[in-house]
Amino acid sequence: MNYERIKEKLEILADAAKYDVSCSSSGSTRKNKNKGLGDSSGMGICHSYTEDGRCVSLLKILLTNVCIFDCAYCVTRKSNDIKRAAFTVQEVVDLTINFYRRNYIEGLFLSSGIFKSPDATMERLIRVAKKLREEENFNGYIHLKSIPGASDELMQEAGRYADRLSVNIEIPTKEGLKLLAPDKDHKDFIKPMKAVQQSIKQYQSEKKLIKSTPVYAPAGQSTQMIVGATGETDKDVMYSAHYFYNKFQMKRVYYSGYIPVADDSRLPALGTEVPMMRENRLYQTDWLLRFYGFDVREILNDQHQNLDMDIDPKLSWALRHLDQFPVDVNRADKRMLARVPGIGMKSVHKIIQARRYRKLNWEHLRAIGISLNRSRYFITCDSRIFESRDLTGAQIKQQIMINSTSKYHNNFSNQLSLFA
Ligand code: SF4
Repeated sequence: MNYERIKEKLEILADAAKYDVSCSSSGSTRKNKNKGLGDSSGMGICHSYTEDGRCVSLLKILLTNVCIFDCAYCVTRKSNDIKRAAFTVQEVVDLTINFYRRNYIEGLFLSSGIFKSPDATMERLIRVAKKLREEENFNGYIHLKSIPGASDELMQEAGRYADRLSVNIEIPTKEGLKLLAPDKDHKDFIKPMKAVQQSIKQYQSEKKLIKSTPVYAPAGQSTQMIVGATGETDKDVMYSAHYFYNKFQMKRVYYSGYIPVADDSRLPALGTEVPMMRENRLYQTDWLLRFYGFDVREILNDQHQNLDMDIDPKLSWALRHLDQFPVDVNRADKRMLARVPGIGMKSVHKIIQARRYRKLNWEHLRAIGISLNRSRYFITCDSRIFESRDLTGAQIKQQIMINSTSKYHNNFSNQLSLFA
């Protein structure tokens, strides 16, 4: 092996892969049954993130950064004058095994530019995963990117070796995609998603009848959207995410702020990065939809098309719906408790548990770990009223922001200071 050349390829192809954030591995339980290498369950894979929230525990590379497409927002686009490189299948296998043995990584995240055709590219990605599983007995986590436009047969084969498959929607609106990625068709994203979804369902129902049915993409599928490349609203982004969660049972949708990589009149100017706070707010909204029982239309709609940057989306919703508050923590149902700013789902369960034995007062709530700094404006309990109830939404917001020690608020202030 020519180590210098491999090192050079690694530098190029790991750098090109860094723009993809869809690499969480939660949800997989592939066990080490054959005394092979690795065990994707319980290894903390994807629970390590860099400070800015990116996952770092996987070897994250492109197979090649040669691409026949010319998506304006992508550093790998064919018209970009950059150094190109390509790994062979064996080189990726060797790197993965070497890095794994040295404890550098717990798995592989493999994507690729589209060389020749979607099928030729997908076929090569599958060969890497197949070799790792069948020849190297590798049981670590494998996340393969599905290439838009790849055939159903290849998608079906990919899921037999990968823990997770993902196709990046990339641009949240069809119009935006047409403008920035003229080689691509919205249908090319939908097709592999559908194929994977059907195969997951089919394998799951077969598993119920035949125990020895092999696993198929046990960590499901995910997708990523680039945010801020086409002037879309947060409503556009979250409605699109909502569609993919519902239609294709996505495990996760990731939101990645557009990093200007090209001087192109169709794109935001170089040096105008999307604030990290916008990503944070989108992730918070995503969380409210998946775990807190909110409907996307409650948070974003024609009257409210973008998320507040200075407060989180739950607080923002509560301030717009003060008529539904205060709620009595000793009587409110789970759904309404979960809507109180400052009360997370863990606390909701603790409240429901604790109130079986006593009427809860401020001291009890504090002991449970409720953030009274936020919640006290929205609840009553078995104590005298804490706050004057005639405050307006704007006054509550101001008081909370003054007292807030939230890391999000601090981040936001830091970002604002950059423009001061
Ligand atoms: S197809 Fe993928 S790799 Fe190629 S230019 Fe478009 S986004 Fe980049």
